Amino acid sequence: MEPLIHFAIPFAILTMLGIRPKVAIPVSLLALVPDMDVFFGIHKWFLHSIIILIPLGIGLSIVFLLRRTGLRNYAPLGLLAMLSHPVLDVFWNYTPILWPVYGESIWINLGINLQAGSSLGIGHNVGVLTQPTSFEAFTTLDAPLVTGAGLIIFVLLVILPVLLMEIRGRRSWL
Ligand SMILES: [Zn+2]
Repeated sequence: MEPLIHFAIPFAILTMLGIRPKVAIPVSLLALVPDMDVFFGIHKWFLHSIIILIPLGIGLSIVFLLRRTGLRNYAPLGLLAMLSHPVLDVFWNYTPILWPVYGESIWINLGINLQAGSSLGIGHNVGVLTQPTSFEAFTTLDAPLVTGAGLIIFVLLVILPVLLMEIRGRRSWL
């Protein structure tokens, strides 16, 4: 799944919970941490495992809690934002979400098609697929960074709500 969607989904949830964009933006940026593995030449490496991310996130949370920054109260939400990444990826493609406890990469394939036309049809190909996890360095990155659908989701879940909050905030000053 592309970075814009990984950012947009926790951002939308946080702002729906009433958290200001000023806080929701840095917290949601933590959802991009698992894709830092591309800088090491491997996509979907150990940072896509919740077995690795949970202790790493708890460690980072403790560092935030010990430092007296304004964001320390949001450290647990940052952990959840980080965990949202492999959870979303597992519905997108093979993800080593339970590595190294479970050596297979998992894909929860929700291939559901609802078609309307001369007759109404529902097709489904729902299943949990697995394949052995192998961390291989890529020579060229073939993952999309931005797609048209991702851009539309980003505008609807991030840009539009922030603009509406801004407009509503200005009205309250009148
Ligand atoms: Zn990913």
